[in-house]
Amino acid sequence: MKIALIAPAWEDPLWKSEKEKSIFPPLNLITLAALTPPEHEVIVIDESVTDIDWEEKYDLVGISAMTALAPRAYTIADAFRSRGIPVVLGGMHPSTLPDEAKMHADAVVIGEAEITWPLLLEDLSRGELKPFYRQEKITPLRNMAVARRDLLDRGRYLVPDTLQTTRGCPHSCSFCTVSQFFGRRFRFRPVEEVVNEVKTLEGEVIAFVDDNLIGNPSYAKRLFKALAPLKIKWFSQGSLNIARDEDLLRLAAESGCIGLFIGFESLSPDNLAAVGKSFNKVEEYSAAIKRIHDHGIAIEGAFIFGFDEDDESIFERTVKFAQENRLEAAQFGILTPFPGTPLRQKLEKEHRILSNDWSEYTINKVVFEPKRMSPKTLQEGFNWAWQEFYSLSSISRRLGLVKKHAAILWALNLNIRKRFQHFLDRLSNLTLPSPSLAKQSS
Ligand code: SF4
Repeated sequence: MKIALIAPAWEDPLWKSEKEKSIFPPLNLITLAALTPPEHEVIVIDESVTDIDWEEKYDLVGISAMTALAPRAYTIADAFRSRGIPVVLGGMHPSTLPDEAKMHADAVVIGEAEITWPLLLEDLSRGELKPFYRQEKITPLRNMAVARRDLLDRGRYLVPDTLQTTRGCPHSCSFCTVSQFFGRRFRFRPVEEVVNEVKTLEGEVIAFVDDNLIGNPSYAKRLFKALAPLKIKWFSQGSLNIARDEDLLRLAAESGCIGLFIGFESLSPDNLAAVGKSFNKVEEYSAAIKRIHDHGIAIEGAFIFGFDEDDESIFERTVKFAQENRLEAAQFGILTPFPGTPLRQKLEKEHRILSNDWSEYTINKVVFEPKRMSPKTLQEGFNWAWQEFYSLSSISRRLGLVKKHAAILWALNLNIRKRFQHFLDRLSNLTLPSPSLAKQSS
């Protein structure tokens, strides 16, 4: 069979790839390609950097989608199905809403696909494709298939070498989809397997695309010790807990860690408690940032606006905090009730969902009714926060000229600044959802 695996492209200007260049390759699809038996021909199409050939004859098209990309995934699926080509949908969104996805697919893969994908291909070969494939057991992370990086043009990616070492999260923050999809048991790949794969990578900088690389500190320490001799540079996502363990922090720096994406989420302990993230201690934030910076590790902080305790003052306070603590970058997001999350259940019960248009679930548009401000104020405050944090004077104050990796960090900040301006240009043509209208239709 000839199989095409497709990653739909972002249309939102903030997340859309630069012309012909994306940040990361679709690791999930090149991993799926590696799980495809060798008798099949498989190609991977990352729509962000490659056009889809709509006329090509495939025996199967597989598409993976998160919520904001679901409408685009459905459009692609419908187009291939109209030509009689079977389509399989999988990934975060189809796993959460399989019945919705099934309206656009011949089969839906629910959850992880390592075990079900080869079974699905066998069924298809026999003409016995089932409507749903649900992986009942979690994927063991030992002896994992090595992603087929050869199927992509690495020149099209700013960071072509990505790797996942852990899955699952023991926490269950009410807004997050990670533990819904990967489960609450924290799993990790054997250190020696990770090291062996890292040795095969060509790039100077590696991204560990884990949800929390330091979720199990003793595993992380073993991993960092094993990575140190390889003299690589890497960045990843991790919780602020790293700053509580001096050994862990030192080992991370010695193994080549140059940056961490850290979810601060809120400056309000009440907000953090309400969403199940009270292990983040607001009173420790500044000291923790300083300790991480002292090890030469840059921080991109993630903050969410629109929690129930947030009022109009939240924007200025948060930006001021991020500036004063000289965060190298920040991602401000609008609270978004993704399907399958406890947050969505709560807001649905309270009739506060304003839009069910998944293409709006980009964390930069208001799709629910906030408690202590209007949707318009939330959107405008969010817009202001990005503009202020990425103003030239703010970038200059935060980075200066002498900070480690100053040139890269300036380039990153200027790139984000440009993207956000594109987002604002487009947003000015959109109408925000009206609470009264949306409630009538929910
Ligand atoms: S936000 Fe982070 S800590 Fe919370 S459930 Fe998601 S991955 Fe886990």
